[in-house]
Amino acid sequence: MNKREAQPTLLSRFVYSPLNYWGSLVGDCLMAVIYLATGLVLLATGASRGALAIPALLAGWLFWSLLEYVLHRYILHGPKTLAQEGHAHHHREERTLLASPLFVIPLFELLVWWLLSLVLGRMLAAFFVAGAASGYASFSLLHHIFHHHSGAEKSTTTGRGVWASLRKNHEVHHQLARYNFGTTTSLWDRVFGTYRRSSTIKS
Ligand SMILES: [Zn+2]
Ligand SMILES: [Zn+2]
Repeated sequence: MNKREAQPTLLSRFVYSPLNYWGSLVGDCLMAVIYLATGLVLLATGASRGALAIPALLAGWLFWSLLEYVLHRYILHGPKTLAQEGHAHHHREERTLLASPLFVIPLFELLVWWLLSLVLGRMLAAFFVAGAASGYASFSLLHHIFHHHSGAEKSTTTGRGVWASLRKNHEVHHQLARYNFGTTTSLWDRVFGTYRRSSTIKS
């Protein structure tokens, strides 16, 4: 046990609390709904360039998926930080309830929306952040189900389709931490050469 675990700080106590975990899970979904609703209201009340709403939503999701890859590969598996230590804890004890401080993601999303609204306008910025926020909410929900749903045990992971494929990909990451950094998509692992099929490793 290291010093930080022996004498937890206020922040680390909060990060490891059920309140932070469940609050983050609900908050992540709520943020996606709020930005989508904001975009729709602005669209309905006459915002210009409405034809770009769907492309902005898709671009937001693509942005999130790349961010997921980069953060997981270079920050969570990078130099020693509180985030890296938390993620190492997740790799050791997969079922520990552990999430980023629940205020971090909403603040980051608000910052991205504000910056983008200066360039794209509030409506397109809202759709972009809605795409990114729904990607992040998908990650939170998928990752929770992979580790906590009763059918998510390694030995029972069977089946085909996108769902089973994503779950197997994440299992591979927990066995071989240098592969499969994407949880919601394997797109960027395939692009950057870190994709590994579950069939190529021993269970
Ligand atoms: Zn995991
Ligand atoms: Zn990892």
